[in-house]
Formats: sequence, structure tokens, C-alpha cells
Amino acid sequence: MIYLDHNATTPCDAAVVEEMKKWHTEMFFNPSSIYQPSQETKQAIEKARSQVAKMLDASSDEIIFTSGGTESNNIAITGTCLLKKNKGSHIITSLIEHHAVLNTCKFLEKQFGFNVTYLPVDKYGLVDPDDVKKAITDETILISIMAANNEIGTIEPIEEIGRIAKENDIIFHCDGVQVAGKLPISVKQLNVDFFSLSAHKFYGPKGIGALYVRKGVKFRPITYGGHQERGLRPGTENVPGIIGLGKACEIAENLMAEDASKEKELRDLLEKKLVENIPEMIVNGHPEKRLYNTLNICVKYVEGESMLLHLDMEGICASSGSACTSGSLEPSHVLLALGIPHEIAHGSLRFSLGRANTLADIEKTAEVLPKIVEKLRKMSPFWDKK
Ligand SMILES: *Cc1c(COP(=O)(O)O)cnc(C)c1O
Repeated sequence: MIYLDHNATTPCDAAVVEEMKKWHTEMFFNPSSIYQPSQETKQAIEKARSQVAKMLDASSDEIIFTSGGTESNNIAITGTCLLKKNKGSHIITSLIEHHAVLNTCKFLEKQFGFNVTYLPVDKYGLVDPDDVKKAITDETILISIMAANNEIGTIEPIEEIGRIAKENDIIFHCDGVQVAGKLPISVKQLNVDFFSLSAHKFYGPKGIGALYVRKGVKFRPITYGGHQERGLRPGTENVPGIIGLGKACEIAENLMAEDASKEKELRDLLEKKLVENIPEMIVNGHPEKRLYNTLNICVKYVEGESMLLHLDMEGICASSGSACTSGSLEPSHVLLALGIPHEIAHGSLRFSLGRANTLADIEKTAEVLPKIVEKLRKMSPFWDKK
């Protein structure tokens, strides 16, 4: 099997699993209880919190554990809007955000009458900071822009947008799920108030994530219960998950630079070989400002889903865009926002590399895909008429 879908999820690192093990079994205690083993559990949670904080250049008391990227985005966006709805009712985001952001904004529009500006992007998927500035009104209370796009890998100018938000005294949330564990991050330098991350995107366990909340920044909790996470995200802690997330951060910090250079080299090779061997193919995303592991292409006159099925038969796992878009008939909202016509967007494929990929994986994929495309095009009425 060749796994090239790391932007959807990654395998849990063996060292992470090992670290988590005892927190499922002998150290099963509720961290809120009074006895010694519970206190030890609480300390382990605090160690994990400092590991997450360190990776983000934040302090421990600025980290809240959540169930993942989706929940972190929901808490930051809904939590800010509910707190500030008397101050204003306008949100600025982009057309290419993850559905965890877009559908949260849609909920706020429908349920609470917020107005949302969905900023366009250029052909590479970049948000223009000037557009952000122009979209600001007296009513604007929140800006939410992702650090890097999960489908095309384009890296957004977060630091600049953060500066604009700060100058205008507007809360800035960044969905950092695709950069956390991949690139060095300083939330201070990025000027963000909220930053979302998810463990399973960087070799941690599924169902655990974190939200960075800048000191002094307030929000209304969206769930209510006990005092856990200072009452901001109540519920008995996912102890093994939290320990796993902390370990994944530690490992990511150590391996990041090495992963980056290795994966970039392999990704660039895959891109080069596919460009050479597949006619009428385009590469999506920014040529340079792009995640080093991501390659998104559109192959004209072929359906992405058909290519995926044929790749699957060869044991190659890839994606046609986001995991959420796969399985629906609509082409990716991200590719449409780049200005790619519907019929071409339907022919999209995303390869996202990871730590364990080898040169042999890339050579096999680069050899197999052009043949699949040729076969499918022979059956395509559109290719015939060309
Ligand atoms: C995967 C992903 C999410 C959702 O994270 P989960 O932990 O799976 O809920 C949010 N945003 C981006 C950019 C993602 O890639």
C-alpha cells in the first residue's frame, strides 16, 4: 500500500502510541479526583499542555484542549461571535476555508443574523491582505483565515493579516490545522488571537486537538459543564489523547526540518514526472508558497473519482480534494474559488506526502497514473472530440 493522503490524516507515531498506553490502563484516573494517581494524571496533562505551547511559542495557560480541529474552529468563531454580538455582527473569512469554518459561519448567519464576507482568492489560492483591510467595517468583530489550505497547500499571509486585525482591534482566528507540526510556528509573530490545531494531522491520535487563545482574549463557551479547561471547554479530559498530542508536538519539533526537506524533494519529483508524462494537466496552488508535502492537480477530460478508484486498485491512496468533498458530486469549493471551470475541477487529484513515503512510492505513482489517465481518456467522449 502506498499512502499519499496525509492531509486527510496521518498514522499515529509508534512512540506516541507507546506514550499513551498506560493512560488507558493502569493510569486510568479522573484528573479531577483528589487521590495521588489523579494528581499525577493532572501533572501529565499539564506537561502535554506545555509541549503544545512550546511548539506554538505560546504559554501553557493559553492552550485549551478540544476534540480536534473542527471543535477548535467552532469554539473560536462561535465563542467570539456570541460574546461580541452586541458590539458588531460582521465576520470576514475566505471562500477556501475548511468546512469547519465555512459551515460555522453559515450557522451564525442563519441562526443569529451575522453578516459574513467570504473573500475571494487569486488563481493560486492567496488571500490579499488588502482585501481584508477593505472588507473591514465598524461592525467587524472577527477575521478567520486559514494558515494553509488542506486541498491545494497554499500558505496564506497570516502575519500581515494579523497585523491588519490588530491595527483595527479585531479578533483574528487562524485555522492552523495544516501547518501545525509541519512548519515552525510562533503565534506571537503571527499576531493571531486564536489558533486551531489537530493531533491526527501530524502523527498524533484522532479526536484530540487544541485551541491557542491569546492571554486576555475572551469568548463565550459553546458547551457547559464542569470546571475542566477552566470551564471554557468542560468535560472529563481525554487523558490518553492529550498525552499523545503532547508527544506528537515534541516529535514534530524534532523532525520538522528533516520531514520538510525529504518530503519536498519527493513531492517535487512527483510533480515533475506527472507534468512530463500527462498532457493537458495543471498544477493547483501556489508555485512556492505551498505546503512542502502537497500536490494538487487537475487532469483534463478525466474524472477525479475514476482516477482515485484506479489508483486504489494499484494500492495507492490519494484524494480528490478534501475528505468532506469526496463522495459528493460537487467539485471542490476551493478549486472553484481559484477560477477553475467546473468540468476541469472535476478532474482533480490531491497527493499529500508524509514521513514514511519513499522514493519507490513516488516512482510507482508517477509510473501508474499516466497509464490510468491514458486508459480513462480513451473512454472519454470529451477527449475524443478534442
Ligand atoms: C482536517 C482539518 C480540519 C478538521 O480537523 P479535525 O481534527 O479532523 O476535526 C480543520 N481544518 C483544516 C484545514 C483541516 O485540514
